[in-house]
Formats: sequence, structure tokens, C-alpha cells
Amino acid sequence: MNNPFETRQIWFLTGSQDLYGEETLAQVAEQSQHVAAHLQASDDIPVEIVWKPVLKDAASIRRLALEANADDSCIGVITWMHTFSPAKMWITGLDALATPLLHLHTQANVELPWADIDMDFMNLNQAAHGDREFGYIAARMSVPRKIVVGHASHTGVQQQVGRWARAAAGWAALRGATLARFGDNMRYVAVTEGDKTEAEVRFGIAVNTWGVNELVERVDAAPAEQIDALVAEYEQLYDVVPELKAGGERHESLRYAAAQELGMRSFLEEVGATAFTTTFEDLGGLRQLPGLAVQRLMADGYGFGAEGDWKTAVLVRAAKVMGHGLPGGASLMEDYTYEMTPGKEKILGAHMLEICPTQTTGTPRVEIHPLGIGDREDPVRLVFDTDPGEGIVVAMSDLRERFRLTANLVDIVPPDAELPNLPVARAVWEPRPDFTTSATAWLTAGGAHHTVLSTAIGREVWEDFADIAEVELAVIDEQTTVRGFAQQLRWNAAYHRLAQGL
Ligand code: MN
Repeated sequence: MNNPFETRQIWFLTGSQDLYGEETLAQVAEQSQHVAAHLQASDDIPVEIVWKPVLKDAASIRRLALEANADDSCIGVITWMHTFSPAKMWITGLDALATPLLHLHTQANVELPWADIDMDFMNLNQAAHGDREFGYIAARMSVPRKIVVGHASHTGVQQQVGRWARAAAGWAALRGATLARFGDNMRYVAVTEGDKTEAEVRFGIAVNTWGVNELVERVDAAPAEQIDALVAEYEQLYDVVPELKAGGERHESLRYAAAQELGMRSFLEEVGATAFTTTFEDLGGLRQLPGLAVQRLMADGYGFGAEGDWKTAVLVRAAKVMGHGLPGGASLMEDYTYEMTPGKEKILGAHMLEICPTQTTGTPRVEIHPLGIGDREDPVRLVFDTDPGEGIVVAMSDLRERFRLTANLVDIVPPDAELPNLPVARAVWEPRPDFTTSATAWLTAGGAHHTVLSTAIGREVWEDFADIAEVELAVIDEQTTVRGFAQQLRWNAAYHRLAQGL
């Protein structure tokens, strides 16, 4: 996966006005460059911060908003009212702005110079009321925005800006993206269905289907020398069981898995897709349900959903972009089965095959086992345990007139015992606040059984992403009560219906 932040920019806009005279405005420009430089220098902010000349009138603000909209490299704008910037001058610009907005409430100085303070200092440190004027007009116009408060040199401020920048990059990566579905959804399943047209309206991603035999042609045509090279890579990266190794009795199955990876990758590259789905009910001439190939493509940044679940594939793709470069990973996950012993409650998450190896820092094993589902040859797969630590599972449901994201903060833990007979990758977690509350709340929200499990990014990035996308995000966390959560869903339903208009 290429660095998704490399070609991206966030523009830093400073508000002021002509009232103060040239000398003061020169200082405003200098000080705002320092603020932008703090953000630019921060390791917590993965996107380049580009300072723009100080804005002093409505025409230039509107012009800059239109430029931000039109520039594909600009994925967000940060505004800061260094001085007092009468907010009527921001109306037409904010009305035109279609780029994610972060309002940074900061000032040039950290310390208030109590003994020396005079009116010159006051003039250069008046964001306290300048930003309130901006906040008023943004609130009056219902402009979606993230608000971050604090000095730009402070780590906490930079981390918040960085999380929002990641969310904005995830959003930008979906706009204009293509999701390729090999076959349709699993028959009779409700939650994996949804409005693909609305998904493109809401998230900007085109969801389209190709007949699986177009993929089969490419798999069958994979060049032998490329298969040789990929199999060698597998043996180098993973712990391949002897029967699959060169000379092993089932080596041909590993070669076929490599051909699947080559065929899928070339197909996705040709149609420009960054996410995809498969379905075991429509494998056409594929000899195995793709396991290893899907796991490897997910690890490379592709979004994926099983059984035709394109909504989860969208979330996995967004998580891959938003979490790029951070420890941990993101994967398709499915709530599979429970440990229900009182006091030991846990969820075992897994899938038939397709869990992403970014969830482990260990060396996955490449194994082959029978799979009753799909009616094909035994599929090759990576097997591993997900690393313990904090995680978040997020699901997308189609509620007819809109999408709902449901999330649960979880603590991934080691399995209570070895799982020698479980032939798939998995994660074991304790949901917050507790098993009963979490599952009750999840069922109340109609959250799907497929999720993206993300260990690289947490709650705040998902909240920023949902705010930018203007979709509901119902979070189950350590504070959640069943009653409070149900009430929250009711308020959300009223809000989101009103917010999207008639
Ligand atoms: Mn499934």
C-alpha cells in the first residue's frame, strides 16, 4: 500500500481583518506561520500542513474555499481566528466549503505575561474572542467541524489534529474509489444487503459487481514464474507447513493460492478497485475459496468483506487508510462464538478464512484444511492469534433511509487456552463495558455480525470519520448502559432524519 498521506495536504487558514494596520497584520502572518509550523513538525500529524496567507475579507475567503474544494490534494482545512475576524465575512466561504473543517482554538502565546501585558499584546492574542465569533457563525450555519482547543505546541492538541487528519484522509480515499464485488451477497442474508447507490452518495465509493469467471480467467493465466516468486515469498514471510512446501504432497494447493493472489491483484489494479468482496456461493471456476490471497490483499491495504458484504469492505478500506503507519492493523472480523462462563465472558472472533495478518506481530502459519462451505478444494489460509491490546469493532447497517455505524471498544486478550484444532486466524476479546451490556446494546442497534476490527486507530478517529461522512456512530464503551444507549439511538434517529432533510 502506498503512503495514503504522501500526496495530501491540509490547509491552514488564518482569519483577521484590515482594522489593525500593516504592522500588526505582518505579525499576525508571522505568528500564524509559527502555529502552522508546530503542526507541520508534529510526528502525530501524518499529512502536510500548508500555511495560507492571512484572510481579511469575504471575497478571498470564498475564493480559498473554492480552491480547497477543487484541489484533490487538499483533504481538509484548519481555521484559526488569530485576531478578530468579523464572521459575516466567513459566510459565503463556509457556505461554499465542501472540504472537512477543523477549527483550531489556539493563540500565539502560551503564557499570559501578567506583569507586562499591554494593549499591543492584547491585540495579538485575542483568539479567545475571535474564535468565539467564528464559532457562532459556524454553529448558526450548522457547518460540520471538529473543534480542537489548546496551544499548537501541546502534544494533546497535535494528537487530536492528527486523528482528524487521518479521518479526513480516510474520507478522501473513499471519494471516487471503486469497490469490486465478485458475485452477489450470500443468499437470504439481510444485514449484508444495502443501498449501493446511497453508499456512493454518502461515502463517494462506487460499488459494482463483476462475474467471478472474469477473475477465474486471470487466476488460471497467472504466469508460472510469478507463482514461483510469490511462493518463495510465502516461505520467507510465514511458517509454511511441510505438506504445502516445495516437494510437499500438497504444494500444488499453495501454488494455486498464489495464482489467486496474482489474479485478484491484477484484476483489482485494472479496474482501479481499492476494496472487494467474494462470496462462497459464487466461486465459478475457482478451485478454492480465496483465503490466503484475501488475507494478503487486506494486509496490503485493500478493503474486504466476505459473503458479498461490501459495507464492511468499505469500513476495512477506510480503516486501512486511517491507520496507515501506526502499530496494529485492521481486518474483517465476525463475532463467532462466546465463552459464557460467569466472570470469564469473552467473544471469539474469526471467519472461515479471511482475517488480516496485520493483527499479529508474530509469524502466521500457512496451513491447509478442509472447508465444508463452498464445495471446492481445501483452501490455504494464514493462521494466527491477534495480538492482545485495545481495539474497536465497527459495523455498518443499512436502516433503509440511512446508514448506521455501531462500534464497541474491546480489549483483546490471549485465548484462555491453546486452540490446537481451530484452523483459522482469530481474535479473542472482552467487550466494554461488559459482555451482557455490550451484546444487548449491539443487538438493540442492529449492528452487523461482520465488523472491521481496528487496533491501529481508536474511537476518536472513527468519530471524526463519522462526523465528516455525516453518518450516525453509536459507540458502546465503558460508560454505556443499556437504557442510556437505547435512548441515544432514539435521539440519533430523530436527529439524523431531520438532518438529512425532506
Ligand atoms: Mn461471514
